[in-house]
This record gives sequence, C-alpha cells and structure tokens, in this order.
Amino acid sequence: MKIAIIGAGNMGGSIARGLAKGSLIADSDIIVSNPSAGKLEKLKEEFPGISTTQNNAEAAAGADIVILAVKPWFMEPVMRELKLKSRQTLVSVAAGISFEELAHFVIAPEMPMFRLIPNTAISELESMTLIAARNTNDEQNQFMLRLFNEMGMSMLIPEEKIAATTALTSCGIAYVLKYIQAAMQAGIEMGIRPKDAMEMVAQSVKGAAALILNNDTHPSVEIDKVTTPGGITIKGINELEHNGFTSAVIKAMKASK
Ligand code: NAP
Repeated sequence: MKIAIIGAGNMGGSIARGLAKGSLIADSDIIVSNPSAGKLEKLKEEFPGISTTQNNAEAAAGADIVILAVKPWFMEPVMRELKLKSRQTLVSVAAGISFEELAHFVIAPEMPMFRLIPNTAISELESMTLIAARNTNDEQNQFMLRLFNEMGMSMLIPEEKIAATTALTSCGIAYVLKYIQAAMQAGIEMGIRPKDAMEMVAQSVKGAAALILNNDTHPSVEIDKVTTPGGITIKGINELEHNGFTSAVIKAMKASK
C-alpha cells in the first residue's frame, strides 16, 4: 500500500510521522510533497526511509492512497493538478469541504473518498480522528480505522455528523487546554510554581481520560468515587455548577458546531 501526502504542514507532517512510526506502512511506501523544501528536509532527517518531492503530481502518481493536507482554499487547484484515478483512494483533511465538493474537483467522482478530522494531538499519536467515508467498502473502512488507530483513536461517522463531532474533538481539545490553563491560574494564586501546576493539572487530565478509556466506566461513576459526603471535592464541583460550568461547556460545543 503506497501512500502520498500532499502538504507537509501541521497535519500532513504529523500524519507522515505517524505513518512512519506505525506498523502498517513501510517508510519506503510513504511519499510527501510540499512546495517549500525546509519541511521536507526535516521529515527526511527524522525518517530517511520516506521519499519527498516538491512535485505533487509525481507524489500522487504511484500512490494507492492520496492524503490531501493543504489549506481548504488550495484543495481545488491541487486536486485538479493531481488528476487522480478511480483505482486510487482520496483522503481529505480539509475542514469544511464536503464529499459533494470533492467529487466536483476530481475527474473520477466515483473514486473511494474519506474525509478525515484529526485533532492537533495527532503529533503525539494521541489524536481523536473522525473518519467519514464515501464510495468505500468495509475492508477499506477498516484499513483506514487501523491506520489512524495507530495515531490515537479513530471512529467512523456519517458525514452529516462531522460538524457536531468536530466541536467535541478538534475544538474540544482547546476547551480542555482552557481548563488546564484556568486550573494553573488557581494553582499559581495558591502559591504553586507555574510549571509544577501545569504538570499537576495536565497529568490529572490525562489520568481522568485514562480512567474512562481503559475501563468500562462513566464520568459519573468516577466522580462519585472522589466526592465524599461533606468533603472538599463536592464543594468544588458544586461551585463549578453554581458558576454554570456544565451549561458553559454545552453552549461552547454548540457554538463551535
Ligand atoms: P499548514 O500547517 O499551513 O500546512 C499546509 C501545508 O500545505 C504547508 O506545508 C504548505 O506548504 C502546503 N502547501 C501549500 N500549497 C500547496 C500546494 N499547492 N501543494 C502542496 N502543498 C501545499 O496547515 P494545517 O494546519 O496542516 O492544515 C492543513 C489542513 O488540515 C487544512 O485543510 C485544515 O482544514 C485541516 N485540519 C487542520 C486541523 C488543525 O488542527 N490544524 C485539524 C483538522 C483539519 P508551505 O508552508 O511550505 O507553503
């Protein structure tokens, strides 16, 4: 399976690194294309086995899967330049470009297509990646899930759910970071050094996520375990609620959608 990545920016570069670190694709089967040489040279230094080029058409020509990781406004010209064949699979990372629009940009609209919504944690192989599919079969879907499960976790969703799920995952990561920042501010006011506060809060967030993801449990169950009647945690949780915490999160997610 040969994979071409067009665009070596934040997303394209992270996907290239994730694929190279993963077990499913050999480095020699990865080719990355980008207009400026600097990003390609950096990738090549890290993973000498991958190929790089500044020619998009050359990258895409021999690939089974072509991942487009350019800004949305470059999608149309780049796709017209690539002239992808129906035997190839198109993967678009571009936010906000529908399958209908992608189909207009390619010469083989019946080709298998995926829309991919990773979040920025893909650089740490901890992305929540949403995948919508069109003109694909179950085998192709499962392969795509396996590929992106190696960069965190991935989930197949219908295209019409992309806006809502993106709010939870791509935007959601910023809300979690905002919580970390706010908790740090509290820690600093209480005399904890900023770096120590940041590590304490970040590891606590990671721990909370691990409790949920590694066990067949639920946030309410885990909260119940730490809220002793009359204790300090329930006082803080109730203070969050008096200040509209749950309502603010719901409103934020809906605003992002
Ligand atoms: P980025 O860092 O600016 O990367 C875009 C890359 O595309 C740059 O390296 C740029 O190269 C390259 N490029 C520009 N014109 C090109 C062309 N004609 N052919 C090939 N490559 C070209 O942007 P990004 O954050 O990775 O975003 C890429 C896509 O991912 C966007 O469509 C965005 O909607 C989507 N996305 C991003 C996120 C996120 O959190 N960042 C999340 C989900 C989806 P030079 O800089 O060298 O010119």
